[in-house]
Amino acid sequence: MHPETLALRSTHFADANAAAVVSPLYLSTTFERDANYELPHGYLYTRAGNPNRHQLESALAALEGGAVATAFASGQAATMALFQGLQPGDHVIVPDDAYYGTPLLLQDIFSGWGITFTKVDTTQPLAVEEAFRPETKLLCLETPSNPLLKVTDIAAMVRLARSRGAITVCDNTWGTPILQKPLDLGCDIVMHSTTKYLGGHSDVLGGALVFREDTPVAQRIRQIQTLGGAVPSPFDCWLISRGLKTLAVRVRQQSAHAQRVAEFLSGHPAVEQVHYPGLESHAGFAVARQQMILPGAMLSVQVKGGAVEALRFINKLGLIIRATSLGGVESLIEHRASVEGPASTTPANLLRLSVGLEHPDDLIEDLRQALDVV
Ligand code: PLP
Repeated sequence: MHPETLALRSTHFADANAAAVVSPLYLSTTFERDANYELPHGYLYTRAGNPNRHQLESALAALEGGAVATAFASGQAATMALFQGLQPGDHVIVPDDAYYGTPLLLQDIFSGWGITFTKVDTTQPLAVEEAFRPETKLLCLETPSNPLLKVTDIAAMVRLARSRGAITVCDNTWGTPILQKPLDLGCDIVMHSTTKYLGGHSDVLGGALVFREDTPVAQRIRQIQTLGGAVPSPFDCWLISRGLKTLAVRVRQQSAHAQRVAEFLSGHPAVEQVHYPGLESHAGFAVARQQMILPGAMLSVQVKGGAVEALRFINKLGLIIRATSLGGVESLIEHRASVEGPASTTPANLLRLSVGLEHPDDLIEDLRQALDVV
């Protein structure tokens, strides 16, 4: 089935009570036993399992082409569970350009548990090769990356990790299964902040890990999910499942809008550089063409000048909303260095733009009038 059909089929289940077309919301935290003291539908207690979470996990596994999925209360809770599956003494490789919370978890939390990590540019195979150690267990990828939109050759990285006995996880939050399928390219695990495109409406937090096979690693993480308890609520799962129904149309449309916005920005005299894998000038253009269906709806722009000019520019915007996060239907822009704090290595003149569903002509007009102040 095509992804849009799969999204609709996998988020629908037959309702035995009322034949409702839309899945009911099962708020119950506990489930009744039958006269034989059996659990008639296999559900015991919502932390261990709930029909809405089960539906979401099945849909995520189907869309990513995985065997099983585990849903969490946020993207960070999913990444946390992934690292909790490691052992003291293990080493992790993470991209030098990635969601800043990923290396921060390793640095501020897991270093105390004896897990070490190396940051490396995963677009450079030789550098990644050099970063491997005998104790490296996990190679983390994020492509396109946050906030520089670097594009990593997933299949090449998987080959490298396998030759060193490590598993590969790819944060597919920006790609989504509509644009790229890391499990098909050999990754062992796909990670998602479902808060973003999968939810799609900036109204629910969530995270997920999807596993290509139901391996002991997947089973261990399921145990961490239910024993640790960082699970999404039934309503969170219901909202994210609803988001999945329109994922394909939203992502394709938003990507088309982003292409137009990126082309406009790259031709503007007040702009120093645009980072978008749909532009031929982008270093990752060729790899993106090969492994992505479309380049996506995220882009970063560096205006001429520094933080002052960047902030003056976004303060003049009238339509595009100044807020962190991404992947919703409304366009958002943010000064990433301010969000990441003093340790940030993001250029001071960089603005990250999540392109939404507004008409691209209106978005371009808003950007044009705001760039006048740079
Ligand atoms: N991964 C990426 C690429 C993200 O952009 C984010 C959040 O911005 C996360 C992970 C963390 O997800 P959450 O905010 O849902 O915990």
